[in-house]
Amino acid sequence: RALAEGRAWHVHQLEEEDTVDRELSLLGELDEALGKGEIQVLYQPKLDLKTGHISSVEALVRWNHGTRGFLRPDLFIPLAERNDRIAGLTLHVVGQTITDLLNWQSSGRQLTGAVNISAKLLNSAPFIADLREVVENSGISPALLTFEVTESAAMGDPAGASAALQSFRNLGIGISMDDYGTGQSTLSYLKQLPLNELKIDRSFVQFAHQNRGDGALVRSTIDLAHELGLKVVAEGVEEQACLDFLRAIGCDLAQGYLISKPVSAMELQPLLGRTYPL
Ligand code: C2E
Ligand code: CA
Ligand code: CA
Ligand code: CA
Repeated sequence: RALAEGRAWHVHQLEEEDTVDRELSLLGELDEALGKGEIQVLYQPKLDLKTGHISSVEALVRWNHGTRGFLRPDLFIPLAERNDRIAGLTLHVVGQTITDLLNWQSSGRQLTGAVNISAKLLNSAPFIADLREVVENSGISPALLTFEVTESAAMGDPAGASAALQSFRNLGIGISMDDYGTGQSTLSYLKQLPLNELKIDRSFVQFAHQNRGDGALVRSTIDLAHELGLKVVAEGVEEQACLDFLRAIGCDLAQGYLISKPVSAMELQPLLGRTYPL
């Protein structure tokens, strides 16, 4: 038995070393990826349910890896967070988003762009300083930018998060609370944060038109958010019946595969001129 346990430990140890090796090599590749142009930004539209037009987009990062193909963010964002690469990666996404927003603007489409901000960056003075420089040098109106921060990120340290979000607001950037409903925040807590928008998590939205409980939660969240002066985005809309329900209960914006999956800046272009039937 001791022998078996010893062997199990040995295997475990080898597996751990393997994981560390793999992490280190992927990290080295990530460092080169930015220079090689392998880090790309896709955009998923947010549909304005009052006008039927796409009024805003969310930037979602992809790694077009030389040999592994397209890597989803879940695979390398945590790696970047653990190894102090998240600020650089996020600034790259912000920079690319600004470039594309300015391009759309010069072709007559005024869009706002949202970038996902990791909890790790909520209290980073160097990130704020670099961000200010990127935004100011680009000449973009900062009001065209929104940062999406997950509810659980903000919940970790409410007072700290509030101050950090205020420093983004001071730059003129809007704040959206992402994945709302998954982090158990209270009404009074929400009121303290300098928010502009609430994104209701897909897990509540997906069946809201079918499930009485989910529907009631989504409806009361929309009412509450409106009381607090926030716009509401429903994420993960996959069915027309869901979209119809959301519009009927006063939701402002919808996002999901029904409208479009995340696409490249070029693929987005034809969607921008469309009027979606509501
Ligand atoms: P998120 O911010 O909640 O983004 C929504 C995710 O749901 C995206 O996955 C999107 O492709 C997917 N999605 C959109 N509509 C639908 C739908 O109708 N049905 C279903 N089943 N899924 C839908 P993605 O692109 O793989 O991103 C995963 C997560 O990675 C994001 O979740 C976000 O937290 C993070 N992420 C993405 N880009 C960045 C980034 O630049 N920086 C940071 N820090 N995190 C990022
Ligand atoms: Ca998001
Ligand atoms: Ca989300
Ligand atoms: Ca989500």
